[in-house]
Amino acid sequence: MSSERILEVRGLCKTFGGVQAVSNVDIDLACGELLALIGPNGAGKSTCFNMVGGQLRPDRGTIRIADVDVTGWPPRRIWRLGVGRTFQITATLASMTVIENVQMALLSHQGRTDSLIGRAGNMLVKEARALLDEVGMSGQADRACGVLAYGDVKRVELAVALANAPRLLLMDEPTAGMAPRERLELMAMTAELCRERRIGVLFTEHDMDVVFNHADRIMVLARGELIAEGAPETVRADRRVQEIYLGSESG
Ligand code: ADP
Ligand code: MG
Repeated sequence: MSSERILEVRGLCKTFGGVQAVSNVDIDLACGELLALIGPNGAGKSTCFNMVGGQLRPDRGTIRIADVDVTGWPPRRIWRLGVGRTFQITATLASMTVIENVQMALLSHQGRTDSLIGRAGNMLVKEARALLDEVGMSGQADRACGVLAYGDVKRVELAVALANAPRLLLMDEPTAGMAPRERLELMAMTAELCRERRIGVLFTEHDMDVVFNHADRIMVLARGELIAEGAPETVRADRRVQEIYLGSESG
């Protein structure tokens, strides 16, 4: 089991001024597993993501990815280790076409962007098309990303993330701003693609239907602390979790 583990976080802590944003959090994630990190607004979810992705340095604790201690590493170095990220805010380039975005991501993964000056030309077209096929976007390959429907941009983002051949995928509210049905579809697709590639996925999500339908395991944060963890049915039955989600619906 331990060789199957892609992410191991121990005793993670972060304070901002007087606020304990993340307090003593442990996370274990296996290859091919979908782990949801949920909790009300301000619970510390994004802060956890930003520490694992290298955007924020932890005050205390360790982060191991694929058995490498990456605590305090910059984002670029963590990315090179095989960590993909999708963001709450769209990260594709609007002026480039769908396929160019994926080509650039593939080229970047191969370390070939320095010679490029922002043009992918006809490089890795076949590989890019194959990825677009998998996310259901090959029919729109030559459209500019800027004119796509929002849900389609999210599919392109997933293809861009997969182009880095990640072993760990970090998704902070990947379905924010999407309609309920689109959310379920995007997560179903993410789950299928990541399970077959054995990618470990850590994601946050406000939509509880998405979480309980697609997560293998759920961790619940409240005020920076983990208050529950387990299979969806265990977490759903947890009294403290019910209090949080019945007491105040998080937006
Ligand atoms: P979530 O993603 O669960 O909504 P966050 O991790 O964004 O929560 O925030 C956790 C807490 O840390 C909140 O109280 C928030 O106001 C605070 N916080 C987050 N980022 C910063 C920052 N860069 N500077 C100051 N306080 C922050
Ligand atoms: Mg957040």
